[in-house]
Amino acid sequence: MLWPCASLPNADLKGRTTLRVGGPVEWLLEPANPDELRKAIVAAREAGFVPRLLGGGANVVIDDVGLPGVVIATDRLNRVFRPPSGPSLDGAPTGADAGAAALLDELLPSSQMAPPDPSWDPRLIAWAGAPLPKLCRAARDLGYSGLEKMAGVPGHLGGGIAMNAGGKSPDGTLWQMSDVVDMIRVVGADGQFQDILRADWAPEYRDGRLGDGIVVGAVLSFEPRPKAQVIEDSKEYLRRKNAVQPVTEWSAGCVFKNPDPELSGGKTAGLLVDEAGGKGRRHGGAEISERHGNFLVNRGEATAADVFGLIEEIQALVAEKAGVVLEPEVKIWRS
Ligand SMILES: Cc1cc2nc3c(=O)[nH]c(=O)nc-3n(C[C@H](O)[C@H](O)[C@H](O)COP(=O)(O)OP(=O)(O)OC[C@H]3O[C@@H](n4cnc5c(N)ncnc54)[C@H](O)[C@@H]3O)c2cc1C
Repeated sequence: MLWPCASLPNADLKGRTTLRVGGPVEWLLEPANPDELRKAIVAAREAGFVPRLLGGGANVVIDDVGLPGVVIATDRLNRVFRPPSGPSLDGAPTGADAGAAALLDELLPSSQMAPPDPSWDPRLIAWAGAPLPKLCRAARDLGYSGLEKMAGVPGHLGGGIAMNAGGKSPDGTLWQMSDVVDMIRVVGADGQFQDILRADWAPEYRDGRLGDGIVVGAVLSFEPRPKAQVIEDSKEYLRRKNAVQPVTEWSAGCVFKNPDPELSGGKTAGLLVDEAGGKGRRHGGAEISERHGNFLVNRGEATAADVFGLIEEIQALVAEKAGVVLEPEVKIWRS
C-alpha cells in the first residue's frame, strides 16, 4: 500500500499508550505536517477505512487482538509557535530546520512580568501532536496564564481537544481545554480543512463534540499574568495531582466519567468506586489503584482482556451498591 506519509505495517500500539496494553494495527500512518495529515485521512478513507487518531495514547484502551485498518499517530505533528513571526497552521515553520522549541526560546520575553506593550499577543499556535506538557511549559515560560491546572495531564493537543480534557480545582472550579481554545482547525468529512471558531464550538464534559472532524491544530489564547505566579500555580497543581493520583504507574487516567451529580448525590466516580469497595480489586495484571478509585493501573503484565473484565466488574459493583451506572471515560478500541 502506498501512503502519502511515513507508514508502518503491523505496527505495535501497546508502547504508544500510557496503559501499555493492546495489539498491533494493520497500518500506522505518521504524518509530519498538517497537509500530510489531511492527505493521510483522505487516503485512508479512499482505501475504505475509517482512520482512528492516536495522540499521546493517554485515554485509550486497545484490544489485545489488535486492529484492522488505519491508525494515524500525531507524534510527528509536534510544533508550537507564537503568532506574529511564527508560521500559520498551513505549513512548515519558517526555515525548514527551525524547531518550535528554538523558535520559542528566541522569542521568550526576558522580563519576569508580562510586557506592558498593548500589541502584545498572548496566544500560541500548536499542531495536533504538540504534547500538553510542552504547551503548559511554553505558556508558563512566557507568563501566559490558562494552562496551569493542566500541569501533569499527559497527551497531545488534538487528544486534549477531542476529549475536552479538564478537571475540578480544590476550590470546586471546573476547568477544561476549551477555556483556552480560540480556534480549531480540523479536517472535515469532505477531506478539507475547516476552521471552528470558539463562538461556534460547543464541547461538553470530556467530549469535544467534533463529529467527523480530526484536529490538525489550534490557536490558544491566554491571560497575561506575572510569570512567577504562573510558575507557582503550575507547581502547586502538579503537586496536588501527584499527591492523589498514581501518576508514576501505567494507567489511562480516569477510567469512568463522573456521573450526573443529581443521580450520584454529588459523588465523583472515584468516591463511588471507593465506597463500593472497589479499590485494590484485580483482574490479572489490572488493578484499581489504592490511591485513587477512578484509576485502573497496569501492574506490569495486564492484558486488555484484564482491563475490560475489571471495568465490567467495577460497573456491576457500583450499580449494585450505589445504583449508579458508570460510563467509561476511556476510549475503547476494538476491531
Ligand atoms: C496519569 C494521567 C493523568 C491524567 N489526568 C487527566 C486529567 O486531569 N484530566 C483529563 O481530562 N484527562 C486526564 N488524563 C487523560 C488524558 O491525559 C486526556 O484525556 C488527554 O487529553 C488524552 O490525550 P491523548 O492525546 O493522549 O489522546 P488519545 O488517548 O491518543 O486519544 C483519546 C481520544 O481522542 C481522539 N483523538 C486523538 N487525537 C485526535 C485528533 N488529532 N483529532 C481528533 N481526535 C483525536 C482519539 O481518537 C481518542 O478517541 C490523564 C491520563 C493519565 C495517564
